[in-house]
Amino acid sequence: MKSRFMLAAAVFGLSLISQFVSAADEKELPQTLFKNVNIFNGTEDRLFENHQVLVEGNLIRAISAGEIETRDGATVIEGDGRTLMPGFIENHAHLMLPGPTLPAMEANSTWEDLAIHGTRMAEMYLMQGFTTVRDAGGANAGLRRAIDAGTIVGPRFYPSAAFLSTRGGHADFANFTSPPGAPSNFSRLNMAQEVDNVADMNKFARNNFRMGATQLKYMQSGGVVSAFDPWQLLAGSREEIEAAVGVAESYGSYVMAHSYRKLAIMNALNAGVRSIEHGFMFDCEIAELMNEKGAYITTNLTAFDPGLLDIPAVRDVPSSYRKAVSASAAFKDYIPNMKKCPVKRGYHTDCVGSVGACSKQIAYEKYLNGDFFGNYAALVAMTSVGGEIAAMSGDFMNPYPDGKLGVVEKGAYADLLLIDGNPLEDLSVIGTSDKWFDGPPRPESPETIRIIMKDGKFYKNTL
Ligand SMILES: [Zn+2]
Repeated sequence: MKSRFMLAAAVFGLSLISQFVSAADEKELPQTLFKNVNIFNGTEDRLFENHQVLVEGNLIRAISAGEIETRDGATVIEGDGRTLMPGFIENHAHLMLPGPTLPAMEANSTWEDLAIHGTRMAEMYLMQGFTTVRDAGGANAGLRRAIDAGTIVGPRFYPSAAFLSTRGGHADFANFTSPPGAPSNFSRLNMAQEVDNVADMNKFARNNFRMGATQLKYMQSGGVVSAFDPWQLLAGSREEIEAAVGVAESYGSYVMAHSYRKLAIMNALNAGVRSIEHGFMFDCEIAELMNEKGAYITTNLTAFDPGLLDIPAVRDVPSSYRKAVSASAAFKDYIPNMKKCPVKRGYHTDCVGSVGACSKQIAYEKYLNGDFFGNYAALVAMTSVGGEIAAMSGDFMNPYPDGKLGVVEKGAYADLLLIDGNPLEDLSVIGTSDKWFDGPPRPESPETIRIIMKDGKFYKNTL
């Protein structure tokens, strides 16, 4: 045995030695037993009452309606009929975009500003109950390295690295007078790259994976509050989008595309994009193509807020106000269409701004999910669907490949919340707010979330 071990170590290097050591240590993994909990498992519209769940190391080892044996020294949590559920998954955040506006960030953000903001955002997300966050542009792998090393506190993190955007597209953050291709603050930091042909796409998409992206983010439509781009924009040729998909697939991963218009969404899906972001002109024909392609949609429901036109960033900027009026009219069928032809939809906040403002937006986005689609659909969007989306990063790029995310089942990662009350009946117990930016400041962590566990470790326990 010894000689085989030495040979293997010599051939494969030191990483294999540590795997051998951890395999030998396996019996010593710490255990946590949750007793008498009602489980929402992330997929079914019911609670499994009075169950026990054993966590060993960072995985769920056993789930049972009967007793589960533990070793001496196991941590025992008396659940007293509280709800045990998967940690929330955010599918569309921007942890490295502090706001207040895109030009201000381009002109005045240093790497220190961005790192400090990202650190505080990561901690806020975890304390709001999010154990996984997919970043939709602007963050490279540094934040994840710091979180996973335990240097800072935060969720599991799936960054997209630089936004890939055409000149004048939705992630062209360069100054108004900046010539095409000129380096910007954000391009130097690999937060946004200007991509205008297939060669650019190959170069910057590959560079994103080099910088630690787990998937790619392409800006295929324009936006409402941004400077140069009509929301109706069809950015990028079929060849360019296919090039992004090709690079992503060569890493075993996928592309998420910011797509508003129906034609943009159809083009993206036909080019192989697996995750439609926003997707505001969603309809039943799109649903059919999505199901055929195994694609997902994530949508910021705050876009359907009745007060959208009163937001200062919209109301006070004539061009944005005009865009918002036409967008609201064009997007009005999203919710009825999603009810008529449901597809796999993930939770999506899309906040750019201060930690306090984003905490409010998260609580409101949670509320809108329940208000528009019901508590069960909201909870599925926030848990198991998010886990499926995270897993699309594939066997080579997924930083967390050892278990499922977003479910309470044997072998899944132990990313768990213990909650006062039943969120299937009352969504407010997960920390919702029916007000957006004009609501009161949010608590650092919702009181009804009594335990936050990520990767088998406690980050909050008020029992
Ligand atoms: Zn976004």
